[in-house]
Amino acid sequence: MTNQKVQALVEKARAEIQGLRPYQPGKPIDELAREFGLNPADIVKLASNENPIGPSQKAIAAMEQEARELTRYPDGNGFDLKEALCQKLSTDASPIKHANITLGNGSSDILDFIVTCFVSKGDEVVFSQHAFAIYGLVTTIQGGVCSVVPAKNYGHDLDAMAAAISDKTRLVFVTNPNNPTGTWLTHTEVSDFMAKVPSDVVVVLDEAYFEYVNEPDYCDGLILLSEYPNLVITRTFSKAYGLASLRVGYGVSAPEVADLMNRVRPPFNVNSFALAAAVATLNDDEYVAESKAVNDAGMAYLTQTFDQMGLPYIPSVGNFISFEIPTEIDHKPTNISASEVNAQLLANGVIIRPIANYEMPSYLRASIGTAKENETFIAKLKQILADARS
Ligand SMILES: *Cc1c(COP(=O)(O)O)cnc(C)c1O
Repeated sequence: MTNQKVQALVEKARAEIQGLRPYQPGKPIDELAREFGLNPADIVKLASNENPIGPSQKAIAAMEQEARELTRYPDGNGFDLKEALCQKLSTDASPIKHANITLGNGSSDILDFIVTCFVSKGDEVVFSQHAFAIYGLVTTIQGGVCSVVPAKNYGHDLDAMAAAISDKTRLVFVTNPNNPTGTWLTHTEVSDFMAKVPSDVVVVLDEAYFEYVNEPDYCDGLILLSEYPNLVITRTFSKAYGLASLRVGYGVSAPEVADLMNRVRPPFNVNSFALAAAVATLNDDEYVAESKAVNDAGMAYLTQTFDQMGLPYIPSVGNFISFEIPTEIDHKPTNISASEVNAQLLANGVIIRPIANYEMPSYLRASIGTAKENETFIAKLKQILADARS
């Protein structure tokens, strides 16, 4: 039987892969439209922390130019993007050179490269409870052991994370701000933590939402790089830069560490559209400012509304917010669980994200949308909660 042959083959796959489940992305709009017979144009998707204002016009123009060259391989070194990043990121205190940068097919690529470089079977990787799902995935694939440190008030407990580092620890993931909780760390907190980490343990500082943060004492990892060559900072064009579909992100590290990552980086991992659009958006200050302004306004609207509705939430500095469906609102039973609220939102054409797989079963995460999207989401949410309690 073919089935038995296939089964015998599947059993030969590496043990690390046998127990894995694929990463669960937010539901695509078209998929929901097919399931519920909805018009895709009526669906509001606030599930994957995407930029709601659409891409920069400059990015689109750059891609149109690039289309003429599609028969050619892209620049495998990404010279123009590295140059643009150096210009954007360099300060007197921390000059950034091409040799510091590794380009990825999304910053998830960089997370994968760094683990591939440093983590062998049985090595430990430390990260926080409620942290990004990719860390566990890339660690497990390499045969690494996840050392998950309990969160403190939904944020990283850096003291406990430092204490969790053992002789077997090769790498630590620190997410700032963290997804899905939106919690963040100050410069002092991160630099005190770095001072405790042995210099032969890699610290990956995942700054996927860096551009959104307004807090004055938020840690900019680049400043710590000259002091700590074991630090790798990752950032992305998927969020504030509005290019999630193109898959482009980068790591900034000591040149020696970038050199290691470049050995495992697949050739041409970043395509020519992504390279061109990333350069164009990086230099489109107006676009990034507008993205931030829309996010700030949407965050203010959602937090005020959750307050009025009596829904607890975790204060967030990213472009998303996790809120709770508590068992009681105003001392009256809520009569509906977070997963049921999510199911009903889907049926009403609103896609947000359940985060039970982040050990937060009573919470839901909503990305900040445009004013109209946020209002649609809230109107449906209010209706669902009212119906459950009537
Ligand atoms: C979105 C996200 C990323 C980046 O994803 P890419 O699209 O692969 O760049 C990385 N880390 C966290 C915590 C994220 O939420």
